[in-house]
Amino acid sequence: MTTGKLYIVPTPIGNLEDMTFRALRVLQEVECIVAEDTRHTGILAAHYGIKRPMLSFNDHNSSRRLPELLARLQQGERLALVTDAGTPGISDPGLPLLQAVIAQGIALEVLPGASAVVTALSGSGFSLARFVFEGFLPRKGRQRQERLAALVAEERTVVIYESPLRMAQTLTDLQALGCGERPAVVARELTKHYESWHRGSVSELAELFHSNPHKGEMVLVLRGQEAALPCEEQGRELLGQLLTTNLALGQAARQAARVSGVSRNRLYQMALQKRQAEQHAEEEEEGSARLQSLPESGEDPSLGSESADG
Ligand code: SAM
Repeated sequence: MTTGKLYIVPTPIGNLEDMTFRALRVLQEVECIVAEDTRHTGILAAHYGIKRPMLSFNDHNSSRRLPELLARLQQGERLALVTDAGTPGISDPGLPLLQAVIAQGIALEVLPGASAVVTALSGSGFSLARFVFEGFLPRKGRQRQERLAALVAEERTVVIYESPLRMAQTLTDLQALGCGERPAVVARELTKHYESWHRGSVSELAELFHSNPHKGEMVLVLRGQEAALPCEEQGRELLGQLLTTNLALGQAARQAARVSGVSRNRLYQMALQKRQAEQHAEEEEEGSARLQSLPESGEDPSLGSESADG
């Protein structure tokens, strides 16, 4: 029996131009659009001239709706899963349907598209080599404190979804955990008319959001904690001590690297430079000692012997 297919379809997070051609085609072709809120998606669909049947699927009705949706997929229907904004499943409903589809071997097609997490990261200016997405934090209690403490210790760039009502408090909580100086960004109303980016330290942003509460949707991006720098000064000192012993340069560099955390290569270069500087100083000393032992130029006997009138 041929089965249908589930399409995961991202929708704009504000700017309606951020809908892809592919997303529009899929929404026009499917038998049914499965929406977090059919009224919300209805407005979106009307904007693009899409007229397809819709069914709601959200945290309130997912267990009731799931069997019906799976049955429709088994009967060969194509369904498109959308949420109110952005990518389904990212702090949004959809996971139980996706898991059931995977478990039952039903065909799946995933479309890439808008999401606030990637948009905020892209403009944050922080390293994107490694990042973590926290989504929404627990609102209170021990769990919230533990999560915040883990985020403060995080070396990767951190992305947090936060409501405008709690942004100031979250920034203050982060500050209280000792990362007041840490650079952060609040990206507000992304892709919309009043989009704004607020950049500063956690303390500065806490003050800004306390004194001037902002409305709208927000993402907080926190630069990761910088890894403790290897202590170069300690490495240099230790190397100096080791070089006064009989150790070869390479061995001294290796031992100093093990203790200080500075790279062995870097320490080896330092050791070489130190040796060369010492040799140079020695040669100069020898040179000036030789010069001092010479007689004054006027009394040079060799000059006398070469004298034209000699
Ligand atoms: N699925 C969505 C996505 O892919 O980004 C996220 C949905 S979640 C229910 C809503 C949260 O996402 C908001 O509270 C906010 O933190 C963030 N968000 C969504 N749209 C945003 C926008 N235009 N600007 C800033 N943050 C946004």
